[in-house]
Amino acid sequence: MHQVVLGLGGNMGDRLSLLDKASKLLVQKMNLEKASSIYHTAAWGGNSQGAYLNQVLVLNTSMKAEECLNFIQQIEKQLGRKREVKWGDRTMDIDILYFDNEIINTERLKVPHPQMTLRNFVLVPLVEVLPDYIHPEFGKSSVELMQACEDKLKVKAWQEG
Ligand code: ATP
Ligand code: CA
Ligand code: CA
Repeated sequence: MHQVVLGLGGNMGDRLSLLDKASKLLVQKMNLEKASSIYHTAAWGGNSQGAYLNQVLVLNTSMKAEECLNFIQQIEKQLGRKREVKWGDRTMDIDILYFDNEIINTERLKVPHPQMTLRNFVLVPLVEVLPDYIHPEFGKSSVELMQACEDKLKVKAWQEG
């Protein structure tokens, strides 16, 4: 079995229900080990407007990394994701943050996710679920990565209502 850590986020439609649907689709083929709380973040990057809800999930799977990528892209599509502008609005984005402690660098797949250490909306939920996990390239824990991150965007725990 492999441990895969996914970062989920969306800023269109019923964001809470889309996160819930994504989890339900993921656990049809993977086992959920841990889920972070849901966090609220202003949009990151230039082409995007509405605020995001983000979550990090830790799952176990017998799928290989490439198969995981196919699977998560299929779920994004099912949840209405359209690939248009880079970093544009989307109903669901699922990124592979970690895949065991592998370092993968192919055309389609880069793991650990290259931008994760720059983003509070990834690091804050990651610290909640895997505070001591060591980033295989940088040799730093999630907590250390978050302390070193210069992202100014505020990430807040999301409460319903
Ligand atoms: P970012 O990658 O900066 O978060 P994004 O999530 O908006 O941006 P997408 O349009 O969702 O980017 O994905 C573009 C491509 O990134 C995908 O088609 C996929 O092949 C590739 N990719 C590379 N590494 C990963 C990864 N670790 N997880 C998910 N997709 C990845
Ligand atoms: Ca992304
Ligand atoms: Ca993505």
